[in-house]
Amino acid sequence: MIPFLDLKSLNAQYREELIAAATQVIDSGWYIQGRLLERFESEFSDYTGARHCIGLANGLDALTLTIRAWKELGKLQDGDEVIVPANTYIASVLAITENNLKPVLVEPNEKTYNICPLNIRSAITNRTRAILPVHLYGQLADMPEIMKIAREHNLLVLEDSAQAHGASIEGRKAGNWGDASGFSFYPGKNLGALGDGGATTTSCEELSTMLNALRNYGSHEKYLNVHQGVNSRLDEMQAAMLSVKLRTLDEQTQNRRVIADVYLKNINNDNILLPLSQDQNALTFMGHVWHLFVIRSKHRDALQAHLQESGIQTLIHYPIPPHKQLAYKAWNDQSFPLTETIHREVLSLPISPLMSIEDALAVAQACNSFSVRG
Ligand SMILES: *Cc1c(COP(=O)(O)O)cnc(C)c1O
Repeated sequence: MIPFLDLKSLNAQYREELIAAATQVIDSGWYIQGRLLERFESEFSDYTGARHCIGLANGLDALTLTIRAWKELGKLQDGDEVIVPANTYIASVLAITENNLKPVLVEPNEKTYNICPLNIRSAITNRTRAILPVHLYGQLADMPEIMKIAREHNLLVLEDSAQAHGASIEGRKAGNWGDASGFSFYPGKNLGALGDGGATTTSCEELSTMLNALRNYGSHEKYLNVHQGVNSRLDEMQAAMLSVKLRTLDEQTQNRRVIADVYLKNINNDNILLPLSQDQNALTFMGHVWHLFVIRSKHRDALQAHLQESGIQTLIHYPIPPHKQLAYKAWNDQSFPLTETIHREVLSLPISPLMSIEDALAVAQACNSFSVRG
């Protein structure tokens, strides 16, 4: 059996270092908002290239609290429109509605599955205040173009970088393009904690200060509450785990790239569409970190069953788009044909830094032996 992602083995690579780091936390007697959080924040902001990193409880909070902070700073208000891809994980959209702002869903680019700049342009109204691009599957959205649009129309940009730690365009990484960027350290993400975790990166001092307060009951100074904040802190234990894993993130990404390359070179089946197969020189493709390796097939469910029979575990990211979820009942009859097609056809192959070339070749071979019976 080739599992989709074997977290136990992944973390076993760091077993000794993780145990040493956990011991350090236990013995320090200090478990929340201490030196290990500060250290990780400084390491991760250095890694992304942004000036500040604010550790938070999870990726959803990173997005939600960043929007909330902009509201507190008077940069956004209730009812403002935020442009977001229709084919994202629901968290990107929840962060907007939780803040009483209005998500404006737009279709992605057919090749990259990331938000299409042309569709952003046509979705802009006089209520538009922000764009929330998602670096889906580990590939940056077209940030040079998106930033250009944002500057022309004076819009804020919040990157959803939950799947894109280290992804880049010409060396400039996720987290250092927009006005701010939300990251998740959910265990299965490319940089995963041993529990929940998240962070916002930004080069804006004012935003960083506001987020520092909001995550801690709205307080800059103990027992002085300036804002109606929340409790959303990245704890010392998770910060310590993340510092250990950040050291080898680029190596792990390199391993993912090797596996992706095996798939790209060896999967050859008319029933399967590979990622970006027609446009592999795109700048965003070079800096892809392969959080997921997503193929498409008109016969997705049969393909998934075939791979399962061949001992290969696959998953679907994601089966139902946000506008078709019960959570957003009022939008259920809206139509985003490309998004809906993508959700119907996508299948994620196993991709992990621990896979061997032989494993990847076996997956490719199983893909190639798939045929549609009439
Ligand atoms: C995982 C993820 C999130 C949410 O992160 P959590 O840490 O699970 O809250 C947000 N957006 C995208 C695109 C994600 O993949």
